[in-house]
Amino acid sequence: MRQVIAGNWKMNGLTADAEALTQALRDGLVKAPTGAVVVVFPPFTQVATVGRILAGSGIAWGGQDCHIAERGAHTGDIAPEMLRDLGATHVILGHSERRRDHGELDETVREKTVAALKAGLIPIVCVGESEDQRAGGQQQDTVGWQIKGSLPDGFGGADGSGGIVAYEPVWAIGTGRTATVEDIAAMHGFVRAELVRQMGETAGRGIRILYGGSVNAGNAASILAVPEVSGALVGGASLKPADFLTIVSAAT
Ligand code: PEP
Repeated sequence: MRQVIAGNWKMNGLTADAEALTQALRDGLVKAPTGAVVVVFPPFTQVATVGRILAGSGIAWGGQDCHIAERGAHTGDIAPEMLRDLGATHVILGHSERRRDHGELDETVREKTVAALKAGLIPIVCVGESEDQRAGGQQQDTVGWQIKGSLPDGFGGADGSGGIVAYEPVWAIGTGRTATVEDIAAMHGFVRAELVRQMGETAGRGIRILYGGSVNAGNAASILAVPEVSGALVGGASLKPADFLTIVSAAT
Protein backbone atom coordinates (compact mmCIF):
# COMPACT_ATOMS: atom_id res chain seq x y z
CA MET A 1 0.00 0.00 0.00
CA ARG A 2 1.45 3.40 -0.98
CA GLN A 3 2.11 5.63 2.00
CA VAL A 4 0.20 8.91 2.25
CA ILE A 5 1.94 12.16 3.12
CA ALA A 6 -0.65 14.78 4.03
CA GLY A 7 0.23 18.43 4.61
CA ASN A 8 -2.14 20.29 6.93
CA TRP A 9 -1.53 24.01 6.46
CA LYS A 10 -4.02 24.87 9.23
CA MET A 11 -4.97 28.57 9.32
CA ASN A 12 -1.96 29.73 7.33
CA GLY A 13 -1.54 31.12 3.86
CA LEU A 14 -2.53 34.28 2.05
CA THR A 15 -2.75 33.95 -1.71
CA ALA A 16 0.89 34.78 -2.46
CA ASP A 17 2.12 32.31 0.21
CA ALA A 18 -0.18 29.56 -1.01
CA GLU A 19 0.87 30.08 -4.63
CA ALA A 20 4.57 30.03 -3.78
CA LEU A 21 4.31 26.97 -1.55
CA THR A 22 2.18 25.02 -4.02
CA GLN A 23 4.40 25.86 -6.98
CA ALA A 24 7.48 24.80 -4.99
CA LEU A 25 5.86 21.46 -4.18
CA ARG A 26 4.82 20.93 -7.76
CA ASP A 27 8.31 21.74 -9.07
CA GLY A 28 9.96 19.65 -6.35
CA LEU A 29 7.94 16.57 -7.16
CA VAL A 30 8.62 16.92 -10.89
CA LYS A 31 12.35 16.81 -10.07
CA ALA A 32 12.01 13.98 -7.53
CA PRO A 33 8.91 11.93 -8.27
CA THR A 34 7.53 9.86 -5.42
CA GLY A 35 5.69 6.59 -5.10
CA ALA A 36 3.74 8.03 -2.16
CA VAL A 37 0.33 9.68 -2.27
CA VAL A 38 0.79 13.39 -1.54
CA VAL A 39 -2.17 15.52 -0.42
CA VAL A 40 -2.17 19.13 0.79
CA PHE A 41 -4.84 20.77 2.90
CA PRO A 42 -4.86 24.55 2.52
CA PRO A 43 -7.35 26.76 4.35
CA PHE A 44 -10.70 26.94 2.52
CA THR A 45 -9.85 30.33 1.03
CA GLN A 46 -6.91 28.86 -0.89
CA VAL A 47 -8.36 25.54 -2.04
CA ALA A 48 -9.26 26.86 -5.51
CA THR A 49 -5.88 28.54 -6.00
CA VAL A 50 -4.00 25.44 -4.88
CA GLY A 51 -6.18 23.22 -7.06
CA ARG A 52 -5.46 25.35 -10.14
CA ILE A 53 -1.70 25.02 -9.61
CA LEU A 54 -1.80 21.31 -8.79
CA ALA A 55 -4.18 20.20 -11.54
CA GLY A 56 -2.56 17.40 -13.52
CA SER A 57 0.45 17.23 -11.17
CA GLY A 58 -0.45 14.01 -9.37
CA ILE A 59 -0.54 15.89 -6.04
CA ALA A 60 -4.01 15.85 -4.50
CA TRP A 61 -5.67 18.50 -2.34
CA GLY A 62 -8.42 18.64 0.22
CA GLY A 63 -10.22 20.57 2.95
CA GLN A 64 -9.49 20.75 6.67
CA ASP A 65 -13.12 20.16 7.66
CA CYS A 66 -16.60 19.96 6.17
CA HIS A 67 -20.20 20.25 7.28
CA ILE A 68 -22.69 17.41 7.64
CA ALA A 69 -25.25 18.96 5.30
CA GLU A 70 -25.09 19.26 1.52
CA ARG A 71 -26.21 22.91 1.59
CA GLY A 72 -28.36 25.31 3.53
CA ALA A 73 -28.47 27.70 6.46
CA HIS A 74 -25.05 27.05 8.03
CA THR A 75 -23.26 30.37 8.03
CA GLY A 76 -19.51 30.05 7.75
CA ASP A 77 -19.51 26.35 6.98
CA ILE A 78 -18.42 24.44 3.89
CA ALA A 79 -20.27 21.45 2.42
CA PRO A 80 -18.39 18.38 1.21
CA GLU A 81 -19.81 18.97 -2.28
CA MET A 82 -18.19 22.40 -2.31
CA LEU A 83 -14.81 20.79 -1.79
CA ARG A 84 -15.50 18.21 -4.51
CA ASP A 85 -16.49 21.09 -6.79
CA LEU A 86 -12.95 22.48 -6.40
CA GLY A 87 -11.37 19.15 -7.27
CA ALA A 88 -10.64 18.15 -3.67
CA THR A 89 -10.35 14.42 -3.06
CA HIS A 90 -9.75 14.31 0.69
CA VAL A 91 -10.95 15.99 3.88
CA ILE A 92 -9.46 16.04 7.40
CA LEU A 93 -12.11 15.38 10.05
CA GLY A 94 -12.00 15.43 13.83
CA HIS A 95 -8.59 17.10 14.05
CA SER A 96 -7.83 17.73 17.72
CA GLU A 97 -7.79 21.49 17.03
CA ARG A 98 -11.40 21.24 15.78
CA ARG A 99 -12.33 19.09 18.75
CA ARG A 100 -10.72 21.72 21.03
CA ASP A 101 -11.77 24.97 19.29
CA HIS A 102 -15.24 23.91 18.10
CA GLY A 103 -16.21 21.32 20.69
CA GLU A 104 -16.50 18.60 18.06
CA LEU A 105 -17.47 15.28 19.58
CA ASP A 106 -17.00 11.80 18.16
CA GLU A 107 -20.64 11.75 17.07
CA THR A 108 -20.23 14.93 15.00
CA VAL A 109 -17.05 13.56 13.47
CA ARG A 110 -18.91 10.38 12.55
CA GLU A 111 -21.72 12.32 10.87
CA LYS A 112 -19.20 14.44 8.97
CA THR A 113 -17.42 11.27 7.89
CA VAL A 114 -20.67 9.86 6.52
CA ALA A 115 -21.32 13.11 4.63
CA ALA A 116 -17.79 13.21 3.22
CA LEU A 117 -17.96 9.60 2.00
CA LYS A 118 -21.35 10.25 0.43
CA ALA A 119 -19.87 13.19 -1.49
CA GLY A 120 -16.99 11.03 -2.73
CA LEU A 121 -14.28 12.50 -0.49
CA ILE A 122 -11.75 10.33 1.32
CA PRO A 123 -11.91 11.30 5.01
CA ILE A 124 -8.80 11.37 7.18
CA VAL A 125 -10.28 10.91 10.64
CA CYS A 126 -8.02 12.04 13.49
CA VAL A 127 -7.81 10.36 16.88
CA GLY A 128 -5.34 10.72 19.72
CA GLU A 129 -5.01 11.06 23.46
CA SER A 130 -4.27 14.20 25.48
CA GLU A 131 -1.24 14.62 27.69
CA ASP A 132 -3.29 13.87 30.82
CA GLN A 133 -4.79 10.76 29.26
CA ARG A 134 -1.32 9.50 28.36
CA ALA A 135 -0.02 10.30 31.85
CA GLY A 136 -2.92 8.27 33.26
CA GLY A 137 -2.16 5.33 30.97
CA GLN A 138 -5.49 5.84 29.16
CA GLN A 139 -4.15 6.26 25.64
CA GLN A 140 -5.54 2.98 24.33
CA ASP A 141 -8.95 3.35 25.98
CA THR A 142 -9.23 6.92 24.65
CA VAL A 143 -8.28 6.05 21.11
CA GLY A 144 -10.39 2.87 21.12
CA TRP A 145 -13.46 4.91 22.09
CA GLN A 146 -12.68 7.59 19.51
CA ILE A 147 -12.44 4.96 16.78
CA LYS A 148 -15.72 3.41 17.89
CA GLY A 149 -17.46 6.79 18.09
CA SER A 150 -15.99 8.58 15.07
CA LEU A 151 -15.92 5.93 12.34
CA PRO A 152 -19.24 4.96 10.77
CA ASP A 153 -20.16 1.44 9.68
CA GLY A 154 -18.62 0.74 6.31
CA PHE A 155 -15.66 3.07 6.92
CA GLY A 156 -12.77 1.89 4.81
CA GLY A 157 -15.06 0.27 2.26
CA ALA A 158 -14.67 -3.31 1.20
CA ASP A 159 -10.90 -3.00 0.92
CA GLY A 160 -9.95 -0.10 3.19
CA SER A 161 -9.57 2.45 0.40
CA GLY A 162 -12.58 4.49 1.56
CA GLY A 163 -11.13 6.15 4.62
CA ILE A 164 -7.91 6.87 6.49
CA VAL A 165 -7.23 7.15 10.21
CA ALA A 166 -4.62 9.53 11.60
CA TYR A 167 -3.24 8.76 15.05
CA GLU A 168 -2.15 12.09 16.45
CA PRO A 169 -1.27 12.25 20.16
CA VAL A 170 -2.49 15.73 21.10
CA TRP A 171 0.60 16.45 23.19
CA ALA A 172 2.80 15.94 20.12
CA ILE A 173 0.93 18.31 17.79
CA GLY A 174 2.80 21.54 17.14
CA THR A 175 4.97 21.01 20.23
CA GLY A 176 8.12 19.54 18.71
CA ARG A 177 7.64 16.55 21.06
CA THR A 178 7.37 13.59 18.73
CA ALA A 179 6.25 10.28 20.18
CA THR A 180 9.03 7.69 20.33
CA VAL A 181 9.09 5.03 17.64
CA GLU A 182 8.27 2.49 20.37
CA ASP A 183 5.16 4.45 21.40
CA ILE A 184 4.16 4.91 17.78
CA ALA A 185 4.59 1.19 17.10
CA ALA A 186 2.52 0.31 20.16
CA MET A 187 -0.31 2.71 19.31
CA HIS A 188 -0.41 1.87 15.61
CA GLY A 189 -0.51 -1.82 16.48
CA PHE A 190 -3.38 -1.09 18.84
CA VAL A 191 -5.25 1.02 16.25
CA ARG A 192 -4.84 -1.74 13.65
CA ALA A 193 -6.21 -4.33 16.05
CA GLU A 194 -9.18 -2.08 16.90
CA LEU A 195 -9.93 -1.43 13.23
CA VAL A 196 -9.93 -5.15 12.51
CA ARG A 197 -12.10 -5.81 15.56
CA GLN A 198 -14.56 -3.03 14.72
CA MET A 199 -14.58 -3.09 10.88
CA GLY A 200 -13.77 -6.71 10.14
CA GLU A 201 -10.67 -8.33 8.73
CA THR A 202 -10.67 -7.03 5.15
CA ALA A 203 -11.62 -3.39 5.71
CA GLY A 204 -9.75 -3.20 9.01
CA ARG A 205 -6.48 -4.36 7.47
CA GLY A 206 -6.84 -2.10 4.41
CA ILE A 207 -7.33 1.19 6.26
CA ARG A 208 -4.22 3.36 6.24
CA ILE A 209 -3.08 4.64 9.65
CA LEU A 210 -1.09 7.89 9.47
CA TYR A 211 1.03 9.22 12.31
CA GLY A 212 0.84 12.92 13.12
CA GLY A 213 2.61 15.01 15.74
CA SER A 214 5.74 17.06 15.04
CA VAL A 215 6.85 15.00 12.05
CA ASN A 216 9.76 16.83 10.43
CA ALA A 217 12.51 16.40 7.87
CA GLY A 218 14.81 14.85 10.48
CA ASN A 219 12.51 12.26 12.02
CA ALA A 220 10.28 11.30 9.08
CA ALA A 221 12.35 8.37 7.83
CA SER A 222 12.42 6.60 11.21
CA ILE A 223 8.69 7.20 11.82
CA LEU A 224 7.65 6.08 8.35
CA ALA A 225 9.61 2.85 8.82
CA VAL A 226 7.57 1.84 11.89
CA PRO A 227 5.27 -1.15 11.25
CA GLU A 228 1.63 -0.14 10.67
CA VAL A 229 2.59 3.46 9.88
CA SER A 230 1.01 4.07 6.47
CA GLY A 231 2.06 7.67 6.14
CA ALA A 232 2.15 10.97 8.00
CA LEU A 233 -0.11 13.92 8.69
CA VAL A 234 2.26 16.86 8.81
CA GLY A 235 1.40 20.30 10.19
CA GLY A 236 4.17 22.85 10.75
CA ALA A 237 6.72 21.20 8.44
CA SER A 238 4.22 21.17 5.56
CA LEU A 239 4.60 24.96 5.30
CA LYS A 240 8.30 24.64 4.47
CA PRO A 241 8.63 23.21 0.95
CA ALA A 242 12.13 21.78 1.39
CA ASP A 243 11.16 20.04 4.64
CA PHE A 244 7.90 18.71 3.26
CA LEU A 245 9.64 17.40 0.14
CA THR A 246 12.22 15.66 2.35
CA ILE A 247 9.38 14.00 4.27
CA VAL A 248 7.78 12.94 0.98
CA SER A 249 11.09 11.50 -0.20
CA ALA A 250 11.24 9.34 2.96
CA ALA A 251 7.88 7.75 2.14
CA THR A 252 7.35 4.59 0.16
C1 PEP B 1 -1.29 18.38 12.52
O1 PEP B 1 -1.64 19.52 12.25
O2 PEP B 1 -2.07 17.45 12.32
C2 PEP B 1 0.05 18.17 13.08
C3 PEP B 1 0.44 16.95 13.33
O3 PEP B 1 0.81 19.29 13.31
P1 PEP B 1 2.41 19.32 13.60
O4 PEP B 1 3.07 18.47 12.53
O5 PEP B 1 2.78 20.74 13.51
O6 PEP B 1 2.62 18.73 14.95
